[in-house]
Amino acid sequence: MRRTAALIAGGGPAGAAAAILLARGGAMPVVIERNREPQEVVCGGFLGGDAIALLRRLGIDPAVLGARPIRRARLIAGHRTVEADLPFEAAGLSRRTLDAALLGQAEAQGAMIELGLTIRRVDPAARCLHLSDETVIGGDALFLATGKHDARGAARPVAPESDPALGLRIRLEPSPALDAALDGMIELHLFRNGYAGLLRQEDGSVNLCLSVAQSRLKAAEGQPARLIEALAREAPRLADRFGAAAAGSAWSSVARVPYGWRAKRGAPGLFRLGDQSAVIASLAGDGIAIALASAARAAHCFLQGGAEAAERFQSGFAAQARRPVSLANLLMHWGGTPWIAGPLLGIFARAPGLIRQAAAMTRIGVG
Ligand SMILES: Cc1cc2nc3c(=O)[nH]c(=O)nc-3n(C[C@H](O)[C@H](O)[C@H](O)COP(=O)(O)OP(=O)(O)OC[C@H]3O[C@@H](n4cnc5c(N)ncnc54)[C@H](O)[C@@H]3O)c2cc1C
Repeated sequence: MRRTAALIAGGGPAGAAAAILLARGGAMPVVIERNREPQEVVCGGFLGGDAIALLRRLGIDPAVLGARPIRRARLIAGHRTVEADLPFEAAGLSRRTLDAALLGQAEAQGAMIELGLTIRRVDPAARCLHLSDETVIGGDALFLATGKHDARGAARPVAPESDPALGLRIRLEPSPALDAALDGMIELHLFRNGYAGLLRQEDGSVNLCLSVAQSRLKAAEGQPARLIEALAREAPRLADRFGAAAAGSAWSSVARVPYGWRAKRGAPGLFRLGDQSAVIASLAGDGIAIALASAARAAHCFLQGGAEAAERFQSGFAAQARRPVSLANLLMHWGGTPWIAGPLLGIFARAPGLIRQAAAMTRIGVG
């Protein structure tokens, strides 16, 4: 069996950021990633102030990658619209570009990146990964960064939800109308049991991301197209945006997103990062920051205290994530409850400072 000091499962933002920092610290990490090249994933592509600051510490400037600056947020519920300045600099960047930059930087710092290998099973006790090429690789410490997807043998102990969230994403082609509507803006549409977010990415295209209760897809007979028709009927401003989707464009989806989950307890030698450590409601747009912040904290703990620092890291990070994760969950619940969302937007219209405050309080912090 091959062995390494720091073995990283998954090469998304959390895994790649950990690889950069562990390589900088001389730990010679190995990253196992199933995709042969970075892909688009179900993610809004919103980088908040913390994510941008953490990326710069990793030697990556989103502006250099062409990220579109975002300064304001627009909230829409029914016929009400409210706008406010954000309390931090933010940007829109596609995940394909972000993930490629992070993995490229990890490799440049000396990490070994093994692409096109699927982890079939994790053995946390032996701290090793069983791979699709029938080989096994072990580490002194295991950094679990498989994100939204649980690896067999190390699934998050998430309590089953009666009506879990479903994530959907589509790319809208650039157009003068979308350019004018979304210049410098993140736009959030609130509707029953979910929301949709839109922003412009580096190539001028628009990322339209939705999070909605699974029961709504069931009510639409399991067909995303029927769900979109139903949402368009109840959210007319969103219907205009759906109209910009080219005929035949495909929606990507991810099921059973466990919003609000945190890994409160660790296991010896096992560092859970990113969505494996805490899942913030996506409305807050701070999941990438959590991925980067958890990676930074885990790498620091490992470089200072070795594999035995894993349990201390996990409980410490869970405590750091408690406030933003709980508040984001509450806000997403309110946003998806029409009799609360309408009056709430009325309050926000009179006091837009509250939007800035909510945005600031749902950040993980850069540590
Ligand atoms: C609808 C929705 C919208 C969102 N919008 C935003 C947003 O606008 N801004 C924001 O900051 N956050 C957003 N998020 C959250 C964000 O997408 C996640 O928090 C973030 O991707 C977590 O990063 P990660 O590295 O932990 O996991 P991931 O990004 O999921 O990366 C995991 C990596 O592991 C690899 N992997 C998984 N399983 C295996 C396996 N078995 N073998 C090998 N490799 C494997 C995958 O291929 C992937 O590369 C959104 C989430 C949802 C659901």
